[in-house]
Amino acid sequence: MQKVKIMNNKDIQNATTNYLKRNNYPHFDLKTVMFDMDGVLFDSMKNHARSWHDTMAHFGLNLPYEEAFMHEGRTAASTINIVSLRERGHEATEDEIKEIYAYKGMLFNQCPEAVRMPGAYQLLLNVKSSGLTPMVVTGSGQKSLLERLQTNFPGIFQKDLMVTAFDVRQGKPNPEPYLMGMRKAGNLQPNQSIVVENAPLGVQAAVASGCFTIAVNTGPLPDSALLDEGADILFPSMQALCDQWSSLFAILSTTP
Ligand code: MG
Repeated sequence: MQKVKIMNNKDIQNATTNYLKRNNYPHFDLKTVMFDMDGVLFDSMKNHARSWHDTMAHFGLNLPYEEAFMHEGRTAASTINIVSLRERGHEATEDEIKEIYAYKGMLFNQCPEAVRMPGAYQLLLNVKSSGLTPMVVTGSGQKSLLERLQTNFPGIFQKDLMVTAFDVRQGKPNPEPYLMGMRKAGNLQPNQSIVVENAPLGVQAAVASGCFTIAVNTGPLPDSALLDEGADILFPSMQALCDQWSSLFAILSTTP
């Protein structure tokens, strides 16, 4: 797996300056940090990828484990149709989609419980101490994980400031989830929020929303999969982002 070098303060400074110039903002006026959930707050993507791979194999289709990470954020129907088209030359019927997705849900529920991503809780505490409001913006409707946000990250998230599958019509890579997050936080402008994302389609959504986008590469994809979608900076893990939060926040607060 190809990994780029760890970003230092100079890289972060350059990324910040480039973002402001590109979007015509004189500076940041940060209020919130919007966090994706799967693969960012919870180490849940392995379970999704494994379940997708095994489900497709059960139905005679091939979706490599690693490729499942590329599709993170897509609707189930869209993922199934991409694979069906490639493998069989036609899309799946609605009944097939229902059957395949039900099977995937069954396998997913048999997976070991996804743990908190290492570094995530401390980062959320640090973000709060910096005077910013941490928010969750996810395309997920997985009740088991959504309910655990309050118990696994006590005192962090306000229910009225969350965006989930139940709030939006268009999932990522459409920017709607992040635009709705900014609206819920009080009609914020893109320079008043930053995004933390782990998936190529999630990065696409965040960049399209106009926000400064931090990629964390917590899965098996090459860094280029996230950087090519326009991520402003990239960290190799949530722990690394947590460790560099105070210098990152200082740079964002003082640039130009
Ligand atoms: Mg994710």
